[in-house]
Amino acid sequence: MEKKRIIPIEIDDHFKLFGKEAWEVVYGEKCPVCNVRIDEYGFCSCGSGGD
Ligand SMILES: [Zn+2]
Repeated sequence: MEKKRIIPIEIDDHFKLFGKEAWEVVYGEKCPVCNVRIDEYGFCSCGSGGD
């Protein structure tokens, strides 16, 4: 069963960047520096990754 794609793959920059949709990325705790959730790749807005 295939999931319905809301954004066409041709214009889906997030999918091209991360290989999955934005809502499929697992987020961890918030970065103490920028207060943005750190995703499963260890990235946040400021790029410190909570270090
Ligand atoms: Zn940050």
